[in-house]
Amino acid sequence: MIYLDHAATTPVRREVAEAMAMCMTETGHFANPGSDHAPGRQAAHIVEQARERFAALIGAKAEDIVFTSGATESNNMALLGGAAFYSNKGKRIALAKTEHKSVLDPCRQLASRGWSLDWLETDEQGLITTQALTAAITDETCLASCMLVNNETGVVHNIPALARVCGEAQVLLHVDAAQALGKLPIEARRWDVAMMSFSAHKLGGPKGVGALYLRRKPPVKVQPLVFGGGQERGLRSGTLPVHQIVGLVRAAELAEAEREQMFRHLGRLRRRLLDQLVAGLPQVEVNGAQTAQSPHILNLSFHGVDGEALRADLIDLAVSSGSACTSDHAESSYVLRALGRSDSLADASLRFSFGPTTTAEQVDQAAQRVIASVRRLRALSPLWRE
Ligand code: PLP
Repeated sequence: MIYLDHAATTPVRREVAEAMAMCMTETGHFANPGSDHAPGRQAAHIVEQARERFAALIGAKAEDIVFTSGATESNNMALLGGAAFYSNKGKRIALAKTEHKSVLDPCRQLASRGWSLDWLETDEQGLITTQALTAAITDETCLASCMLVNNETGVVHNIPALARVCGEAQVLLHVDAAQALGKLPIEARRWDVAMMSFSAHKLGGPKGVGALYLRRKPPVKVQPLVFGGGQERGLRSGTLPVHQIVGLVRAAELAEAEREQMFRHLGRLRRRLLDQLVAGLPQVEVNGAQTAQSPHILNLSFHGVDGEALRADLIDLAVSSGSACTSDHAESSYVLRALGRSDSLADASLRFSFGPTTTAEQVDQAAQRVIASVRRLRALSPLWRE
């Protein structure tokens, strides 16, 4: 099996697993950080150190960080929690149809409670321009949401420029950065975004943990979604999972330390796969941007093949068709359709995504497998014309 689905999730790095294991078993590490005894205080100290280290990685301060169960929760907290707090200005949110479901669905929830969603136009590469954002914002817009890296196409948004538009219009900008940490430099405070969501399992950390950057200066407020013991300044109740938090931060530190070198490695792998597929097959479309593109994702559509048949034929290749997070729905990718791809072309698309453990040999084998499958399916198709 060749695993080229690192945008869906990544293996936990050994160093991360070891750091986590220690937190689960050692006295003073496994204790409840809320307990008022020496081991509890030690566990709380570990969490606070982790918070500072995580904040430093994203250009923030410890006071800006709320630990969550992942980017889904962070997105929900930012949008539902932010909407509850800022509805006085108006009940309008600006966002694109290419956002992750964990942004779209909370916004649809808000729409069912009387909020209006203003859809941001994307260009044919799936990018949101400052003009599109300016056009969508009204006097009643209180929130806008734009992802840093799209999980299906890998396109990278110019968040500092979009944040300036939001700043001038006094709109709070939320950024889903789940696919970006460890791939691109992140400067939360300098970019002047209000909220930013992160996930550990996209960068060699465990599933089930993430963070929300919630700016403290000037303060951004959200209403909590979970009530109870009052942890995380009352914003997110629940006993802090010290091992998960340590896993998130260790993985993020390792990814950040290797970021520039990894960017080049992933870029070479992406180019290698793309060159081979384009050389071996006519009529392949690249979904994404030529310029603003994260190197860990390559999304391609293949003319003249049936998507389901292609996926069935590639059973020894772990790649994604559309987003893995939506794969229990048998619908073609809404992101690719938003970019103007037809239903059938969106359906006949594959997302290859690479990570630190991906090798050139794996990429070569994957290219051969895909070329052979597409050729075979096209030969069987009465509709295929070269
Ligand atoms: N946002 C984006 C862009 C993602 O790619 C994902 C994961 O697929 C999520 C949010 C959800 O992250 P998590 O699995 O941590 O809830």
